Amino acid sequence: MKAVQFFFYLHSVFDWLGTVVGSPIIARSPLLLACGIHSSSAPTAHLTADPTVPCKPKYCASEESTMYQGQKVIDVHGHMTTPAKFRGFAMNLMTIRSPRNRFEMSDEELDRALGPHLDALDTRNIDFQLLSPRPVAMFQWESPHIQGQWATVTNDVLAQSTRLHPDRFGAVGQLPQNSKADTSACLDEFDRCVKELGHVGVLINPDPSGERDTPGVDDRYWYPLYEKAQELDAPLLLHPSVSKDPRVRAIPHNYQINNVWEEYLATLLYIATDVFKDFPRLKVVICHGGGALSRHVDSDIRDGHPARREIQERFRDNLFFDTCVYDFDFMRTMVAHKGVDAAVFGTEIGAALRTDVVDLIDRLPDLSTEDKIKIFNTNPLRVYTRVEV
Ligand SMILES: [Zn+2]
Repeated sequence: MKAVQFFFYLHSVFDWLGTVVGSPIIARSPLLLACGIHSSSAPTAHLTADPTVPCKPKYCASEESTMYQGQKVIDVHGHMTTPAKFRGFAMNLMTIRSPRNRFEMSDEELDRALGPHLDALDTRNIDFQLLSPRPVAMFQWESPHIQGQWATVTNDVLAQSTRLHPDRFGAVGQLPQNSKADTSACLDEFDRCVKELGHVGVLINPDPSGERDTPGVDDRYWYPLYEKAQELDAPLLLHPSVSKDPRVRAIPHNYQINNVWEEYLATLLYIATDVFKDFPRLKVVICHGGGALSRHVDSDIRDGHPARREIQERFRDNLFFDTCVYDFDFMRTMVAHKGVDAAVFGTEIGAALRTDVVDLIDRLPDLSTEDKIKIFNTNPLRVYTRVEV
């Protein structure tokens, strides 16, 4: 048996085991979720919360809820789950290069793919999640005419996902970003995302080409997007993607290196410059806790470091960091440095299923229950004012 066949055989066995014992953890193994291969063969029965999975009493006001202390847990950092034909369309788009071709997918096909995703949310006590594109599959290094069509298709499928499950999903759109084009080229799609499709924000990639040739996030290159985001009250989720830096080739999943570098750099640029003076109502959420921790948190910003005071006071209404962090000590320090008011709950479920982030935050000894509710519920709703739950 070839390796690929064996992989799918294992997938079937996991699905079968899950069906027999009623465990969505077994039915949807982390490996399969992480690989994104969990769509077409999934049974359709897992489209709602599994009543056989008991709610964790310490989180819940009632045993029928996935809530945390009676408040809905809102995850701002999820990634879309789709049938394989979705990425197949992207492959055809990039090879045949005929962007007029249409992409069609039935609700039933998409719902089959979303079943395991919903199971994962239920298992992790998450009530509502914002789905965004898979950053590694945005292909923003492509030519603008290909990239534009791909953004359109992606946003349509995100809208289809939220229409199927409006009580569980909201959407964060994909922009046709291209390092060679002005960001004003993204504005029509940004408008369409919010005004026509009902998305609550958009994702921005600070390095769309992967070549580090795009101006820094403080540059006026970005100002058309900032103006539009402020006008629409639609936050920007700052999430990097792949890097073409030849020095990282030997590292598996090396887009993670780009996350660390690009997110930390963006944090420094926003704090050290006047972006939020120019756009006082602009809201930016930097993923993965801001990429990295600083060893200079109590320094003055003029030293070139993200001072704790600056983030917690001056940028209270502008700059946020999600909790998509899988290490207890990193999480504890990240929240201490950035402050509870800047922390918004995020997991990236859809692209990965690793640590139980709700549990990680619940175990933080420095935070009160009120602080944790801020992270899970109040802060996400303060940032994403278009979310209705
Ligand atoms: Zn992510």
